[in-house]
Amino acid sequence: MWLVRMKDLTANFHVLGVVVDVMRESGVTEIQVSSLWRNSVNSPHKQGMAIDITAATRNGVTVRLNNDTAGTQSEEAMRIRDDIYNAFVNDERVSQALDPWRLESRGETSYSLENKWQNVYNTYLLPRGISLSEYNDATSQQQLRWVENDSQRKNMLLHRNHLHVSIVKAK
Ligand SMILES: [Zn+2]
Repeated sequence: MWLVRMKDLTANFHVLGVVVDVMRESGVTEIQVSSLWRNSVNSPHKQGMAIDITAATRNGVTVRLNNDTAGTQSEEAMRIRDDIYNAFVNDERVSQALDPWRLESRGETSYSLENKWQNVYNTYLLPRGISLSEYNDATSQQQLRWVENDSQRKNMLLHRNHLHVSIVKAK
């Protein structure tokens, strides 16, 4: 069981408002969600200010927001990814949109990067003999240490199989 504070639920309400607007704008009618609020330390999910999306469907075509295990996807599927991703990035209520292809962050930590998680894996995990599932199961501090304390490298690895969206604090 989890204790959920009223203000965390209110924040979730704002996240879902952004998601509904983005779905309308991009013509997406279904999404698969792997996390909304969750009890994780130092994560915007704990404040109810983030959502993780693993797939999106438009007109019967589904894109998997994953370039690790999903295999090659159709051009139409990738257009859906671009449309939903760009709609999130263009929404001023969004502070971070991190997916298997790009990492866009603004506010306190600002960056715009291609997601090169395979390079990060080859450079930092492979030589240490660490598998991706071992990486996923490690603590946040350990995940950061393995990539020599670079949080962008950590974000690349973590977002190889979903789209994470954070919102700014509601006024
Ligand atoms: Zn997330």
